[in-house]
Formats: sequence, structure tokens, C-alpha cells
Amino acid sequence: MHELAVTEYVFNLVSKQAKEHKVDKVSKIHLEIGDQCDYVPEIIEEYLQVMSEGTPLEGVKVDATVKESTVVCKDCGATFTRHEFKDSCPKCGSQNLRLQRCTDFIVKNIEAE
Ligand SMILES: [Zn+2]
Repeated sequence: MHELAVTEYVFNLVSKQAKEHKVDKVSKIHLEIGDQCDYVPEIIEEYLQVMSEGTPLEGVKVDATVKESTVVCKDCGATFTRHEFKDSCPKCGSQNLRLQRCTDFIVKNIEAE
């Protein structure tokens, strides 16, 4: 259920921007979500649909890009995504690694009509 709080945040932010730019209808919101956030974009979209009734955000779609956490090799300094990560550095084979958890949550841009 933690999507509710973040949806309120998105809703308030986008509503404010829509007002500032005198936008009558927001059609799409692009989000960037770190893979450690555990936010489900579909749930955010569902909450937004409910919250936005009668506002410029009514019927808005959510488009999300997942940002992967990165792993840094403490020996050679290489960075790579978790996706490429097995249990050792792909460059030097070291197991002296540090995970940088990606918990970003960014409203990347907004499409208006
Ligand atoms: Zn390395």
C-alpha cells in the first residue's frame, strides 16, 4: 500500500505544474523508479485514476522506466548494473563489491494535450 503516499506526491507535483503552465489536460506522466523502491507503476496509475477525477489529470497514463541498482568494484572501480552482476567483478574478478541500491523516484516529464 506504500504506493498511495507516493501517488499523492506525484499528483500534487503534477497538478501544481499543470496549473503553472495552464494545462487543461495531462495525458501522460513519465516516472523513473529505482529497482529497490518496490513501487508498482500499475498501482500508481490506478490510484492516480481515482484521485484525478474532475482534475486535469483525469485519465492520465503512467509510463515508468526502472533504474537498476549498480554494483561498484572496490578494487578496480568498475561499475556495472545488478543485472550483469554474478558474484564477482566482470572486469577483474574481485569479490570486493559494494551494492549501490537505487531507490530513486523521479517524475521525469509530463505530457500534456
Ligand atoms: Zn573489479
